Amino acid sequence: MLDEKLLSIHQATVLQQWTLKQAIEGIVRAKLGAISVWRDKLKEIGPAEAARLLDGNGVAATGLSFAGLITSCDKAEAAKARDEVRRVFDEAAQIKAPAVVFVAGGVDPRDKDIAAARSRALEGLASLVPHARAAGVKIALEPLHPMICATRSVLSTVRLANQWCDAVGAEDVVGIAVDTYAVWWDPELEESIAKAGKRICAFHLSDWLVDTQDLRLDRGMMGDGVIDIPRIRRMVEAAGYTGPREVEIFSARNWWKRNPDEVVRVVKERYQTAV
Ligand code: ZN
Repeated sequence: MLDEKLLSIHQATVLQQWTLKQAIEGIVRAKLGAISVWRDKLKEIGPAEAARLLDGNGVAATGLSFAGLITSCDKAEAAKARDEVRRVFDEAAQIKAPAVVFVAGGVDPRDKDIAAARSRALEGLASLVPHARAAGVKIALEPLHPMICATRSVLSTVRLANQWCDAVGAEDVVGIAVDTYAVWWDPELEESIAKAGKRICAFHLSDWLVDTQDLRLDRGMMGDGVIDIPRIRRMVEAAGYTGPREVEIFSARNWWKRNPDEVVRVVKERYQTAV
């Protein structure tokens, strides 16, 4: 049996059905104690009210998703994006979320220069470290699937995330989020996760459906797709990770259309049979 205390419901899994307040209450009904917060939902009530609801219900925020998208080739735009990231760090601190998921940003179509986009993301990241440190939150670099490199993230592999961690040199602040959906295909995954070691500060779970219809919004429930999730879990644990397992299923055609209490019930079941 996996420890249910380590099971965190990422708000993405019930994004269309529940507000943050409803999600916190649903998690309590399911006898769970952790949530990974989606920032747009946090904005609806603000961090002070969210902190009050979390504390009042005995639910812990394991993370805040997301901040980033700092690869613009326009200097003013990029500076504005970095300011926004700093605001997210402050919000995470207010709700006592230990980590903010960092999504680098895509290729800027105005310069079509992926190498430059990566450099800008890395430089921007380094400049954000002092603020995250002062706020007491970790920056969880999340490599995303290369199919969304154009729009979301020029950071596609755990190997590259390790290189960015090496380059920034702020091990107390910059870590890595391993999301099964984003990295399962990577032939270097095992060695990259081993190298990441204690840098791993978040672990996200969902499955890749064979007939996937949408690269962002058609994630599968654990056990319904082709990812060997237990194998990846063992990799991150062998690397030293002992933190929460966040179930993050963006699913416009299936899970978002279901009764959210039922979704959480299935998550709990699959957590024991497919994780
Ligand atoms: Zn994720």
